[in-house]
Amino acid sequence: MQTESGLSHCPQCDHELPADPRYVTWCDQCDWNVDPEHHQVAAWQQRQQQALYRDWERGAVTRPGSWAARAAAYSVAVPVLLVPFACLFGGVALLLFYRPLWFSGLLAVIALVIGAAFRPRPQQLPPDAQPVSPADAPHLYAVLDDIGRITRTKLTGVYLHTGPTIGYARITWRFRPVLAIGTSYWAALAPQEQVAVIAHELSLARSSRLALTIEAARHVLTGLIASFQPGPLDEARHDEAQRVLPSHAGGVISAQDDAIVNYYLTKLANLVFGPAARLYLAVFQRITLRPTQYAVYAADRQAAQLAGTEATVHALEKALLADTGFRALERALRYNRDEDPTTAARRAVTEVPARELDRRIRLTRRCGTPDVPPTYLRLQLLQQSSTQPQVMLTADLDKELRPATQAALSALRQEL
Ligand SMILES: [Zn+2]
Repeated sequence: MQTESGLSHCPQCDHELPADPRYVTWCDQCDWNVDPEHHQVAAWQQRQQQALYRDWERGAVTRPGSWAARAAAYSVAVPVLLVPFACLFGGVALLLFYRPLWFSGLLAVIALVIGAAFRPRPQQLPPDAQPVSPADAPHLYAVLDDIGRITRTKLTGVYLHTGPTIGYARITWRFRPVLAIGTSYWAALAPQEQVAVIAHELSLARSSRLALTIEAARHVLTGLIASFQPGPLDEARHDEAQRVLPSHAGGVISAQDDAIVNYYLTKLANLVFGPAARLYLAVFQRITLRPTQYAVYAADRQAAQLAGTEATVHALEKALLADTGFRALERALRYNRDEDPTTAARRAVTEVPARELDRRIRLTRRCGTPDVPPTYLRLQLLQQSSTQPQVMLTADLDKELRPATQAALSALRQEL
């Protein structure tokens, strides 16, 4: 309930709440309205996340994952990646060897479409990404070399884009290892926090092969599940089949027969493959959660050792606000020609009040991706020890990146 003083009371526990119209009103005592969008996270996933966290907390694990955990993850991911190839070969074989052709053609089309839709693809950089050469940014490359020596990671290039993420990526079919820096997150980071993010990403790179395999397999699995889910298209097919049913007489194979066969084939596929794919995904998630989450905890620890605990914690907190930074950058590009878009992004992130940041951290209990442990647990683990930085940044990296930043901004401006 709102009062004139800008305060309101929690409807759940009657605690007094400060109300700021720019942010969500929520209660820090009972978590009322922490999550206005009501995200759902599976109970098993929460339980497993906490179990994995406790492994790290009590020092039972120190590395990204055992040989057995990684082998198990590969053994569930690789077969999924073979599905598109099996579909392509199956489709061709059906066309060549199975008759009648109208029936094998129909099945082959389904197989070929699935195969083509889920074919493997290399990672893509955002369309506004600009290359940054060692001549453009000698200090940045020197920091990357320093950290790369410690984390045993070698990069072949750096790209700068306007997005809200900073990440290690393997691009093109030669899987070139590069660092892709999103300026709307980067701009909000203090120099030492930039070191923390670089250290984290280069440390994660060591387990990137497994992470990429798992990500690609999950893409195929969730895509298959979505296509086996009964949807509006199936209803349309059903209606089509019903509509043409009365004219189905005379014994000649016609377009109407196709519609009916199509409908029942899809229904059969939904019934047979849908539950199987969902069951497989459930098993897949449980097996792949451990090595991917361990790798993130290990990378957090490495980042804290190199950049210091304080900078690592702040960089992680700002990652939760990076979307806010990106929206501010986009707004400045669209409507405010006087304000530098990266300054707008930095301000939007650094001006977020501590109370809103606290809400965003609590929100990570309820939403997130399976590969990454929730931020509240990562922060909890980092804050248990205080490490002094090994790598100190003295140069202004932003200055070196300015030409690439301007080029990326004008590319985004043209897109908008
Ligand atoms: Zn309350």
